[in-house]
Amino acid sequence: MRPVDVLTVTEVRDVTPTVRRVVLTGTQDAVAAAGPTVSLLVPRVDDPTPNWPGIARDGRIVWPTGAHGVSLRSYTARRQDAAVGEVEIDFVLHGDGPAAAWAAAARPGALLGVAGASPLGERPAGHLLLAGDETALPAITRILTAAGPGTRGLALLEVADAAEEQVVPAPAGVEVRWLHRDGTPPGESTLLADAVAALDRPGGDDLFAWVAAESAAVRAIRADLRGRWGLGRAAHHAIGYWRRGRAMSPSQ
Ligand SMILES: Cc1cc2nc3c(=O)[nH]c(=O)nc-3n(C[C@H](O)[C@H](O)[C@H](O)COP(=O)(O)OP(=O)(O)OC[C@H]3O[C@@H](n4cnc5c(N)ncnc54)[C@H](O)[C@@H]3O)c2cc1C
Repeated sequence: MRPVDVLTVTEVRDVTPTVRRVVLTGTQDAVAAAGPTVSLLVPRVDDPTPNWPGIARDGRIVWPTGAHGVSLRSYTARRQDAAVGEVEIDFVLHGDGPAAAWAAAARPGALLGVAGASPLGERPAGHLLLAGDETALPAITRILTAAGPGTRGLALLEVADAAEEQVVPAPAGVEVRWLHRDGTPPGESTLLADAVAALDRPGGDDLFAWVAAESAAVRAIRADLRGRWGLGRAAHHAIGYWRRGRAMSPSQ
């Protein structure tokens, strides 16, 4: 068993009223291993130096017995620079839950553990459909940044209102379309699903759809893309990033 990698906050800034960007530093290996999707070990706000779990040889988390003060949550490294030893993570300050509370209280010197990482699930294609809410913006930004200059397609981005829009670099052939909830609480709007339902399937087979948002919205979009667009498993990746009214895992 090995100890978890622990990253240290160096900078905290608000990029929009509800998105807080946290810059963390660590060893080159720890930073290289912290993404693109990263399983974070989030300490309780009132216990910033918790009893960290360990990581078994097969990657399993080995939790200490008894209370440990750590919650496991999935996030996205918006940017990773192993040479500089820096990772950037954008936290939505949604007002509830240990990760949002940790981000709201984060200051330079605060610690976060890294329990593992996984791919974003995207695949390069000539035509991309990307659909997500603010929790998926870091992943969609990474996908669009890596997309070839000739990529065509559409990114549908649902946020609270105009103040939540961010600069999203995209190839010239990809339209970035913002959808505003304008007062509808997150997880209760059908904006993303309605926008996808209004799209005709683009011609050709060089097509990939990537979708992440609240689970119910993702379920509706996944069904539409599989049914109406006839997309097979290799042509889409659609997963719920959070569940309305439910924590992602129990907290201790
Ligand atoms: C692969 C993956 C990558 C992700 N990347 C990011 C990322 O880069 N940035 C990011 O902010 N999130 C990201 N998320 C989503 C994040 O993991 C969830 O929002 C998670 O629930 C936050 O944990 P928490 O401890 O704050 O809240 P939890 O304890 O999980 O939930 C507490 C309450 O808050 C509600 N809630 C959770 N998230 C939201 C939300 N966004 N808006 C409104 N209510 C909410 C829940 O429904 C629940 O009622 C990602 C999720 C996955 C699966």
